[in-house]
Amino acid sequence: MSEAGLRFACQPGCIRCCDTRGFVYLTEQDLARAAAHLNLTPEDFEARYIYRTRRLLRLRKPSGRQCHFLEAGGCRIHPAKPTQCRLFPFWPELVADRTLWHDTGRRCPGIGQGALVQIGTAIEMASEMEHAYPSFYGQ
Ligand code: SF4
Ligand code: SF4
Repeated sequence: MSEAGLRFACQPGCIRCCDTRGFVYLTEQDLARAAAHLNLTPEDFEARYIYRTRRLLRLRKPSGRQCHFLEAGGCRIHPAKPTQCRLFPFWPELVADRTLWHDTGRRCPGIGQGALVQIGTAIEMASEMEHAYPSFYGQ
């Protein structure tokens, strides 16, 4: 890994991060975009796919699987996928900690591949995460 940036290229056909145990959180804009992508109203999308608390929106999980939208060929809502999915692995905690970035490479084969992403660009993506999920990042 270079001081100047982080190397990453998502690998064709890989679905590992989508099939890893965890939760997918959304912004209100993510919800609206995903609903429109599926030709659903935001209300219908929420009724089918969202668990809402006072501070958070997250995707419900189907029984025995990690995500309703994960299909053999990848994400069914790829062009409108939630912010955390779109920005992975440029999450604040990973961009800020090279050991954690490197360790995450054990489950994400795209880490360490492809062109160098300049550190300024990586930090911009990490800040987009912080703004999207203020309750996680103490904004
Ligand atoms: S685990 Fe990494 S390489 Fe695989 S789909 Fe996710 S981001 Fe891409
Ligand atoms: S919404 Fe799409 S990108 Fe995000 S976890 Fe589900 S299948 Fe993966």
